[in-house]
Amino acid sequence: MKQTDVKSLINYIALKILGGSDYVLNALEEYLVKGEGPASVAYKYNISKHQLRGYAQRIIEKSGSEGKAKKIVPILKDISVNIKPIVKRSDDGMNKCSICSMTMSREDTEEHVRKYHKEALTVAIKEMQTRLDQIKQELQKAKEEKTVIFTSAS
Ligand SMILES: [Zn+2]
Repeated sequence: MKQTDVKSLINYIALKILGGSDYVLNALEEYLVKGEGPASVAYKYNISKHQLRGYAQRIIEKSGSEGKAKKIVPILKDISVNIKPIVKRSDDGMNKCSICSMTMSREDTEEHVRKYHKEALTVAIKEMQTRLDQIKQELQKAKEEKTVIFTSAS
């Protein structure tokens, strides 16, 4: 079975969020986890069905399987709650960088972040990784406590 590429998942999501696509995990949760129709989800987030399927495909690939992806999306959502976009879409439809004020088209936002704001991307990735490690530790602790209770009761 294919391994889950956690690092690649975090990188992918961090760049999506910083580049202004902060809806991506919500869209994936509705489409992939809850099984809502692609047309209605795409419409809700103002993207094409093709884009939505593309996001899902990338997440499934990096997760190793669709089953794993369904479990991972809520975790990714949890660990990225404090990550905010640095390129934002303004009312006139332009995408403006909140750090350097440069405006750009929608398809250039991620490249802009990667090229000019690598340190912000690194910080976001580190924060997500730290939060993930915390969750893992909490799960491990809960597991151990359960084992202790079980052992002492028997
Ligand atoms: Zn910028």
